[in-house]
Amino acid sequence: MTMLKVDVDYDAIAGNVATLRALAPTAKLMAVVKADAYGHGLLPSGRAARRGGADFLGVAQPSEAIALRDGGDEGRILTWLYGPEVPAADLLSRNIDVSAGSLAVLRAIVDASRAGHGTAAVHICVDTGLGREGVPMADLGSLLAAASAAQDEDLITIVGMWSHLAWADQPGHPTVDAQAENFRAALATAEELGLNVELAHLGNSACTLTRSDLHFDMVRPGIAIYGLPPVDDPEGDNFGLVAAMSVSSTLALVKELPGGHGVSYGHEYVTPQRTHVGLVSAGYADGVFRAAGGVAEVAVRGTRYPIAGRVCMDQFVLDLGPETEANTGDAVTLIGPGGPTARDWAMAVDTIDYEIVCRFGGLRPKTAE
Ligand SMILES: *Cc1c(COP(=O)(O)O)cnc(C)c1O
Repeated sequence: MTMLKVDVDYDAIAGNVATLRALAPTAKLMAVVKADAYGHGLLPSGRAARRGGADFLGVAQPSEAIALRDGGDEGRILTWLYGPEVPAADLLSRNIDVSAGSLAVLRAIVDASRAGHGTAAVHICVDTGLGREGVPMADLGSLLAAASAAQDEDLITIVGMWSHLAWADQPGHPTVDAQAENFRAALATAEELGLNVELAHLGNSACTLTRSDLHFDMVRPGIAIYGLPPVDDPEGDNFGLVAAMSVSSTLALVKELPGGHGVSYGHEYVTPQRTHVGLVSAGYADGVFRAAGGVAEVAVRGTRYPIAGRVCMDQFVLDLGPETEANTGDAVTLIGPGGPTARDWAMAVDTIDYEIVCRFGGLRPKTAE
């Protein structure tokens, strides 16, 4: 049986939200809890974010928004990723804010409202340069005109306008200012049409932490609420944020091997001398990247060891050295205090820590709140 334990410190999430709120004092805060809260667990993370003072919870999928509401969340929730098949009736009847970045989606929302499911609170999504979601700048006027007409019929309320940055993790990148300029132009277009957009929002975690001039009415941090800021704190204090996820396993076996002995499939690692190896009960089926073999490290009793040889489906091996205190049953820290960070894993396997926590968290039951 494989053994990988994912522990989430929900008080850390609550504390991080409070810290981010204090860093964006003039704006509301939407805590982004999409993708099962980046692997941390949707409902308990949502509750923690509310404890920390989140004004909104934000999710990509309508099903996640519905799960939050049906799970007892009574605050404002926004969901943004869908086409015209959006289950608008289910969202409106639950008082969930919706995003519209195309005429087709707007129409679906208006139809549900006309059918009596509730007045939609709509955030217009504009593509200011990411080249992903949202109406292109050139078509914004016609989308706003249609939204305005629906608002005049009391079918929707245009509560927000939003966009998303492409290069926020490089705060000085010229596209950040270019997108901000487009966003301001989009807001001006709405104003010219006589629309009162109460919530303009643009900034993700990186923007929240580095560009206070672009906080507008609300910030939308995701990764930072889990304690993993995507930019370095110039003061070296992680912006006061605390990593919420720890990942651990155990040593299933410790044994001696002679020097020159191949380890794991393909013998990519060969013991340089007589040594002790430790068998860890976790593998790629648990989210340990196969590419981590030979590059990522884990900690046993406070000492770091690189993964020796290939990661297997539910196990991998460590070279614990000729003399070791480690024993069968010892805890192995993959991520957490005294061991590597999610960022360390990301650097080892050439990805971002977002993918690391989604992967580890997504495959395992989380600890209770
Ligand atoms: C994921 C996401 C965020 C949060 O991004 P982070 O980099 O995790 O802070 C904010 N807004 C939108 C639209 C997103 O998709």
